[in-house]
This record gives sequence, structure tokens and C-alpha cells, in this order.
Amino acid sequence: MTIHAHPDDEASKGAPTVARYHDQGAKTVLVCCTGGEAGSILNPAMDSDENRKRLSEIRMGELEQSRRIIGYDAVELLGYRDSGMKGAEENNDPRSFARADGGEAMEKLFALFDRYRPQVVIAYDDESDWYPHPDHQRVHELTTKAFRRAAELGKVFAPKKLYYSVFSRGRIEASHQAFLDRGLKSPFDERFLNRRARDGDITTRIPVNGYGQVRLDALRAHRTQIDPESPFWFGLGDEVASELYPFDEYILAAVNENGAVHSWPFRGPGPLKSQLVPQQLPEADLFSGIG
Ligand SMILES: [Zn+2]
Repeated sequence: MTIHAHPDDEASKGAPTVARYHDQGAKTVLVCCTGGEAGSILNPAMDSDENRKRLSEIRMGELEQSRRIIGYDAVELLGYRDSGMKGAEENNDPRSFARADGGEAMEKLFALFDRYRPQVVIAYDDESDWYPHPDHQRVHELTTKAFRRAAELGKVFAPKKLYYSVFSRGRIEASHQAFLDRGLKSPFDERFLNRRARDGDITTRIPVNGYGQVRLDALRAHRTQIDPESPFWFGLGDEVASELYPFDEYILAAVNENGAVHSWPFRGPGPLKSQLVPQQLPEADLFSGIG
């Protein structure tokens, strides 16, 4: 089960991982917390008054197309409204995810845990210093709390592992270098190259050879949100971009060992005996240690 803030986040973050596990027989569920109503239309070819009026309907269609491309078995909408970027007027909308009652949002997530019984949940790291979108921050906080509470309560189905997806410095540098090698202008500027890196904290590298195209196709399905001319995603061409960095990277944020939650970096007063925590880093399987 992956928890995402907006339609299109499931395409940009970890799509090849989901496609690979789905091919291997895992049941895959996408939880999308908002309808993306406050997104800007970033593709000039789609930017019309009519499209802006029915943006939320269009985005649901885009999400369905992306779902099929990636291979999610189910999509669940948590039903909140997009809060917009930090400081936007939409922040104050009582229906917004940013304003949502924390207890109510957690109950909704618990109901989905009970329905799908996910062994592994994937959400976001705290990236407020880099991309301070209130909805992304909320995904981080809500999922982290819900994972712990579910384990403690005992009456809700409690997932075994919580991961955060990471857009690593390694990935940024590999892409940046590929642009330079081809004499192209790199879209990765100082802001990217100087951002706080969590590469040293990565616990998990999933090989996704052969699945890189899934990300590009899923991104293109979000026609209003992703400019097909975007150098960031498409500037290297599909062939190069899809095979350039054939890993998706994650931090194992917490494990639930029979109701006791241990959080990264898994140091404690005593030795932690859990098969869920890899002995050697990085591990290459999100389901390692789950019987
Ligand atoms: Zn988003």
C-alpha cells in the first residue's frame, strides 16, 4: 500500500517498484489523499478555461490511466481537498487535507488497513525543508502516526513495515551528469544539487531494470500536470531516462515486531531482534523478513 498526496505523485515516486511487485503477484493498493483540485495546469497545451473548470474530473481520469499503466489493483481516495502550496488560499478551506481532523483521517486509514491488510506501507519522508507542500507533510505525519497506533491498538490490522520513498542525491547526480555528457542543459540546478541528501540513510534499493518506462508513461498520463516537454522528466529521451538509474530507493522508517514499533535508525537500549530489520544494507526487497 502506497500513500500519496495528489494524483501524479504515484507516477513520480516509486512507480517502477509497484509495477515490479505487481508483476510478481503482490496485491498493490494506492491511497490518494486528495483530488488534486488545487494543482496548476503545467502543460500549456492543456491550459484552457474549460479544463480549469473541470480539473478535478480530468485528474481522476488521469489517475485511472496511471493506475492501469503502473499496475495498481485498487485506488482508494481518502476524500480530502488539495490544500495547495504553502501560503495558498486553499490552505484555509475546511475540506482541505491540511485542515482535516487528524483522528478522522487516521480512522479512514485504519479502515483501509483492515480492508486490504497491507504488509508493507510506503509514504514520504519529512521533506518540509525541500518541498513544503502541506499535503505531502500531512502524508508523512499521518502515515507515521497511523502505523504506530495500529500496532499499539491491536484491534486494527497493523502493517509490518513502513518505508519512505527517497529521491536520492545519487539519482540527481546521475541524471545531471547524463545531461552534461550529451551536451544538454541540465535542469538540475544548484537548488537540487545542494539539497539535503539522505543517501546515507537509505536502507533499501529495489532493482527496477526494465520498469523505468512505467514511470515515464504514468507521468505522461497526467496530461494536465506534467508538461510532455519537461526537460526534468523527458529531456534525456525515454531510452536513456528509463535505464539511467535502475533503482528505487527507500528508508525503512519503522517496523512492527508483534505490536512493538521500532523506528529508524533502530538503535535502542538493548539489541533489537527482528527479522524485519536488515542485517546488511542495503536490502533489495521490501518484503524481506516477512514470513
Ligand atoms: Zn503532490
